[in-house]
Amino acid sequence: VKEQGRNSFEFYTPEMNEAISKKMKLEIGLRKALDQNELKLVYQPQMDVKTGRLCGIEALIRWHHPEWGMISPADFIPLAEETGLILPIGEWVLYQACVQNKTWQNEGYPDLRMAVNISSRQFQQTNFAETVKKILKESGLDPAHLELELTESIIQDSAHAISTMHILKEMGIHLSIDDFGTGYSSLSYLKTFPIDTLKIDQSFTRNIFINQKDASLVSTIINMAHNLDLKVIAEGVETMEQLHFLQQEKCNEAQGYFFSRPIPAEEMNTILQQQLVT
Ligand code: C2E
Ligand code: CA
Ligand code: CA
Ligand code: CA
Repeated sequence: VKEQGRNSFEFYTPEMNEAISKKMKLEIGLRKALDQNELKLVYQPQMDVKTGRLCGIEALIRWHHPEWGMISPADFIPLAEETGLILPIGEWVLYQACVQNKTWQNEGYPDLRMAVNISSRQFQQTNFAETVKKILKESGLDPAHLELELTESIIQDSAHAISTMHILKEMGIHLSIDDFGTGYSSLSYLKTFPIDTLKIDQSFTRNIFINQKDASLVSTIINMAHNLDLKVIAEGVETMEQLHFLQQEKCNEAQGYFFSRPIPAEEMNTILQQQLVT
């Protein structure tokens, strides 16, 4: 403490140093992860609430480091955004998800929508729509079988984001708003933006039977969406009771541990096979 000020480094506490070097390690690890095949996708079913049938799949990224084990996207996606690594990673995710969906279609399974999470940094790239077009062409996937999950933060941003949405929409791609209702944004964008679906955030779904206000919000979001000709999917559905509530409120789709956790492609094959026989 005596020497404080001579060297700015000394302003950092040991805890801060540790946090910084942990972050640097993570960044170096993440740079390697793509090359070394440490990233993979898992898939979570999205179910039609009325018919109980599978209608879509969300692709979610996983990072399995050989020494550190499984690292949650909640821990590395923000870092990937900060460092720009989200650009190559996001492109890899999109390609991988499109190829997997096309593979399932080629194998004779029913046509499903594949939903892919897009971070704002990715979406703001000037050539984002071009990249998507290229990936669809390379994978051979019909744009109608791709859905991009965007967050409200993307939308608030720029005229460029809005024109990108229109280009994607014209290509026939579905657009949804992820974590709807958690982003402090004005609702006015719902009037003008070419959106197909609202995804009710799991924080609302979780509390349907815990807090009456959450239940009211869920049913209000569903009604509002339907009045605007939008579809609604609820995420984080864990119980039969939550599903019944959503059914009663005429929510279109549901996703959550009640149906399945996110699973590797091989396990998804089994679920797809069941869809064929039932
Ligand atoms: P998200 O897009 O909101 O994804 C939903 C998260 O909730 C996933 O966590 C999923 O595994 C989890 N989940 C699904 N059903 C249930 C449930 O019934 N109960 C509970 N408690 N959780 C459930 P995950 O896979 O850890 O992903 C976390 C976040 O990381 C995602 O939130 C998304 O924002 C981001 N992320 C994941 N994959 C990607 C990706 O490929 N690209 C980008 N940009 N972000 C991604
Ligand atoms: Ca999502
Ligand atoms: Ca979400
Ligand atoms: Ca989220």
